[in-house]
Amino acid sequence: MKTAELEVVESQNKKEKPTQDQIPFGTTFTDHMFTMDYVEGEGWQEPKIIPYQPLTLDPAAVIFHYGQTVFEGLKAYRTKDNRILLFRPEKNFQRLNLSSERLSIPPIDEEQVLGYLTRLIQLEKDWVPETAGTSLYIRPFIIATEPNLAVGPAKTYKFMIILSPVGSYFPGGIKPVIINVEDQFTRAVKGGTGMAKTAGNYSSGYQAQANAKKSGNADVLWLDGIHKKYIEEVGSMNIFFKIKGEIVTPELNGSILKGITRMSIIELLNKWDIPVVERRISIDELYQAYEEGAVEEVFGTGTAAVISPVGELNWLGKKMIFNNHEIGELSQRLYDEITGIQTGKREDLYGWTIEVE
Ligand SMILES: *Cc1c(COP(=O)(O)O)cnc(C)c1O
Repeated sequence: MKTAELEVVESQNKKEKPTQDQIPFGTTFTDHMFTMDYVEGEGWQEPKIIPYQPLTLDPAAVIFHYGQTVFEGLKAYRTKDNRILLFRPEKNFQRLNLSSERLSIPPIDEEQVLGYLTRLIQLEKDWVPETAGTSLYIRPFIIATEPNLAVGPAKTYKFMIILSPVGSYFPGGIKPVIINVEDQFTRAVKGGTGMAKTAGNYSSGYQAQANAKKSGNADVLWLDGIHKKYIEEVGSMNIFFKIKGEIVTPELNGSILKGITRMSIIELLNKWDIPVVERRISIDELYQAYEEGAVEEVFGTGTAAVISPVGELNWLGKKMIFNNHEIGELSQRLYDEITGIQTGKREDLYGWTIEVE
């Protein structure tokens, strides 16, 4: 690193903060952003916190043509006693580096970047909303900036962090979602980029999601790309099933995103002595268990919703309705525990939160 010293340029015209609870996800940004540049042979340099502003990029920048980019998503929460907490942020930077490795992007120094994030949050403290369910969404990302149309990894990159206050994911209380089991399109295959948080994985799902929405579904449940049989995950959530008292979630196989919420739930279930297994589960097996009345709860997990109960799955014209379209007992318990720890309402027995002072 050439210049490890962080430069801070404060914004001279601060924006008005939005009215809480009425913020559509990802549309409002704070006064400042973090940027740092990478130059091949020199490394990451010039870490800066500057006023939030547009970028100027060459039209030939690699990001625009070959999609060499990775991102992360995490949140800062305000506690009742006005402290600000981050939930397992080191896991996000570890995962960013894993994604980067897959996309041939140079790694960042995880600890150092966590330090920069902390500085940025300190400066934007007032942007962390306080109403129940709200938070400050944090979006770190890296783009390849070198102007070069030759197919191949760029020689220059930009790492940035932007912040966006978000309203409650369930403003009217937790509501189970209806999801279509996708039987045509594929999200990822083993050996592909499914385990990386990279742009192409998301835009390639839009067509399937749009089709699902036309028939009244909120999202799609992806099956494995080879057999169209084994359950993988939802658009931006991992998936869990409670079948005869046992919790089952698809094992990480290279095409599934390694969710930090997923990981936290498995750790909690282990602590609570509730049986949990990571294994392959086919849609046929799920349907059969459903027909036998053995599927007790289904829920998706991710930073956005934490727990999103699934009330209904539609698969090849067949409908599976879970727990009478209501949130299950275990889903509620997990939701209360994780959101409790995130917002300081419950004691963090696991060392998952980091306070930004
Ligand atoms: C981000 C993401 C998740 C959830 O990960 P968390 O770390 O729990 O937020 C799951 N699936 C996909 C495809 C994702 O992009």
